[in-house]
Amino acid sequence: MGEFDLIRRFFTRDQQVARVGIGDDCAIFGAQVGYEHCISTDMLVEGRHFLSGVDPAALGHKALAVNLSDLAAMGAQPHSFLLSLGLPEADEAWLSAFSTGLFGLAQQHGCALIGGDTTRSPLTFINITVQGLVPHAGGVLRSGAQVGDDIWVSGQLGDAALGLALRQERIGLSDATLRARAIRRLEWPEPRVALGMALAGIASAMMDLSDGLAGDLPHILRASGRQAAVELDHLPLSDALRTLPRMQAFSLATAGGDDYELVFTAEPRAAARIEALADEHGLQLSRIGRILPLAAGETAQIEWLLDGRPTRFEAQGFDHFND
Ligand code: ADP
Ligand code: MG
Repeated sequence: MGEFDLIRRFFTRDQQVARVGIGDDCAIFGAQVGYEHCISTDMLVEGRHFLSGVDPAALGHKALAVNLSDLAAMGAQPHSFLLSLGLPEADEAWLSAFSTGLFGLAQQHGCALIGGDTTRSPLTFINITVQGLVPHAGGVLRSGAQVGDDIWVSGQLGDAALGLALRQERIGLSDATLRARAIRRLEWPEPRVALGMALAGIASAMMDLSDGLAGDLPHILRASGRQAAVELDHLPLSDALRTLPRMQAFSLATAGGDDYELVFTAEPRAAARIEALADEHGLQLSRIGRILPLAAGETAQIEWLLDGRPTRFEAQGFDHFND
């Protein structure tokens, strides 16, 4: 199977979003009046972001999911994506499963594959560039958090990190259902696209959680020039995390990566609207803290509270060059 057969067989599907899609030198699509494009890229490298034995269907899903999660964090509507693949060989079973996982999620979000690049490479790598649409000047930035805003998170935190610890046999969990659920959160993350779009106009700042709350929330704080107080006992923990010692659960929920939930800030008077969105989207939305002023000379950081009181809690987000 040659490069072009491979692209035709596994990556060319009917699509409506671009006038010219896969097969020419560039894709072409029209700009939509009143909208801006939101564009982002994410790379997954074998041995770094996934192990060579991982289920290729899950990998295809996750490669797109982490990108759609960035669109969700801006409140953008998914439009289309580009896929660059480096592969040691053209393994048909692998490619078939990978593309099934990839297109399963793409179709769910109406996001069309409109181009890419394919090359032989010593390691498998996957790079996706995704683009979405936001109403003109409508994207939700990291820089908008205001003093007094509530801090919210979607879903539950720490399950993906628990799933990784279970896969690596660093933690044991006897309940098979809870175990499977945590591993599923790691391998088949669900980007919160519809919720992110619904929060545009309500959230003052938003981002997605890929490296853990402790590492990610400070990005909002620095961009907004604020501090935060976060109540550890308000963190949404899954039933699986609740079986662990409390501090270990807090640590997974704040320092574990790969949650792909949204963290956002909003005025306290938006709380009822946000709670209504939780019902509408069938997703837990939890108020976990508050935005505080940043005094001159202070660095933006999180003050962790336990039972309403400041507590010494060392949580570290994941950093690729510092681990
Ligand atoms: P070029 O020679 O201009 O780099 P290629 O020969 O690499 O073009 O690709 C041919 C066509 O196939 C292009 O339209 C490109 O966007 C598309 N393509 C290549 N690899 C992929 C892929 N992995 N997924 C989707 N489209 C791809
Ligand atoms: Mg090329």
